[in-house]
Amino acid sequence: MLESTMMDHQLTLQHLLDQGRTIYGESEVTTFTGEGYDRATFAEVGDNVDRLAAALARLGVKVGDRVATFCWNNQHHLEAYFAIPCMGAVLHTLNIRLFPEQLAYVINHGGARVVIVDASLAPLLARVRSELTNIETVIVKGSGDLSGLGDTLDYDELLAAERPGYEYPELDERHGAAMCYTSGTTGNPKGVMYSHRSTYLHSLAATSSATLGINEMDRLLVIVPMFHAMAWGMPYAGWWVGSDFVFPQQYLQAAPLARIIGDTRPTISGAVPTILNDILHNAPDADLSSFRYIVCGGSAVPRSLIESYDSHFGVQVLQAWGMTETSPLAAMAWVPKHTMGEPEINWRVRTGRVVPGVDLRICDDDGSVLPWDGVAQGEIEVRGPWITGSYYEDPAPEKFHDGWLRTGDVGTVTPNGYIMITDRSKDVIKSGGEWISSVELENTLMGHPKVMEAAVIGVPDERWDERPLACVVCASGQEVSAGELLEYLSEHVAKWWLPERWAFIEEVPKTSVGKFDKKVLRARHSRGDLDVVTP
Ligand code: ADP
Repeated sequence: MLESTMMDHQLTLQHLLDQGRTIYGESEVTTFTGEGYDRATFAEVGDNVDRLAAALARLGVKVGDRVATFCWNNQHHLEAYFAIPCMGAVLHTLNIRLFPEQLAYVINHGGARVVIVDASLAPLLARVRSELTNIETVIVKGSGDLSGLGDTLDYDELLAAERPGYEYPELDERHGAAMCYTSGTTGNPKGVMYSHRSTYLHSLAATSSATLGINEMDRLLVIVPMFHAMAWGMPYAGWWVGSDFVFPQQYLQAAPLARIIGDTRPTISGAVPTILNDILHNAPDADLSSFRYIVCGGSAVPRSLIESYDSHFGVQVLQAWGMTETSPLAAMAWVPKHTMGEPEINWRVRTGRVVPGVDLRICDDDGSVLPWDGVAQGEIEVRGPWITGSYYEDPAPEKFHDGWLRTGDVGTVTPNGYIMITDRSKDVIKSGGEWISSVELENTLMGHPKVMEAAVIGVPDERWDERPLACVVCASGQEVSAGELLEYLSEHVAKWWLPERWAFIEEVPKTSVGKFDKKVLRARHSRGDLDVVTP
């Protein structure tokens, strides 16, 4: 190897912490309290980060220890985002919506000795407290019902006892910084351990105009939970470049979000489609004119949602794709310079264009690499410096293929790198040996004005092995028949895709991160709990 002349400088989060608090010391963090707003500058938050690091060190937290958070999106969660990794410990963000058994599993498996919890969430943690084998210290922010948690320490008191100016250790860039577990649709959740280096590079990527393009002029309304794939990288990237933050805590319904948006005038937000759909239907008078764009992902974003935000709110919804394993940014659906004569909307409804820093390919069932021709369909595989190469103490060789991560998403890729996900491999519907895209059926159905939500699952069929069953939630105050929806669908999809089976339900069950939970629907169907009509 021919040696370069460059410094071998370690890519650690210390650099992000230092730059945010000094260069952008006047930028602001705003947390909604339900009544009003708590505000702090980056300089003040930086001081709290030092105090938290000092307090944790005093409690015996050492380099390599895990410290968990069980918090909403708020200022002290941001403080934990920096204090824990910069002092050499590993931040383990816990999904507050996991079922108790899974929550206990994840905390024990991650090995945290200390957990920081919001008082409003204390009862949820108390349910599993007796099963937590490693947790020695529970730190509570705020006041509330703490019964069942045993001895606790108060966050504010701990910080008040310390001074700014913590001496952070010099860390290797490959040291673990943070960990997140997937939501474990089958079996136990799996842990992904991000390194300082991967987080640094991912944060840099999040400021790139090929991805989120976050900059100092932005104000980020962080709706996507900080326990869900690190809030898609917004906390680190926004801090690094001095964007203001607005944190909504538990006020994630349409009405409070509309109020927060009106009051704080954010320029960027990130949320799953369910939340954007809720705002569209339940806060249609919201003033969203402050947004440059809203990034939406986590599941396929229906064309109708993108179009409604354009026409109704005048706001661009930008689709992104990724997963916990990919830090998560892996693709973004900006409109390309060369549109090839296609209307812009056709590019925006694609899942996204692979971002700089990520390699992507699609493979068939035998593992052969397929062409990027927009037609060939296969499992998406990715690799890159912010893609996980394994799971934390949980070997899963079937998830990797010759150094690539198998995403479990099935789709096509255009020659210019736009992916279109047609399904997750576990959700695909194989009818007479051919794939029917449940995602496309759902998105088309959700374009019908009388439909609020639609989830399509494959159900056993004697003749075709599997056929689609459409589960539909009507828009409020509306009624629609299967016949009417079939007629509508037949204008958009191939005839052999049209579902023969329909169920009208109150609500589509959701996973802990707000996605359609099709395994619950499949179970309901196999128990005979769905009222299926065949028009
Ligand atoms: P979980 O795997 O627990 O649902 P993740 O948030 O890591 O948690 O989920 C990643 C998955 O979400 C992807 O593999 C993909 O199936 C889905 N996903 C994310 N963004 C999109 C998108 N824009 N379109 C379709 N599916 C998406």
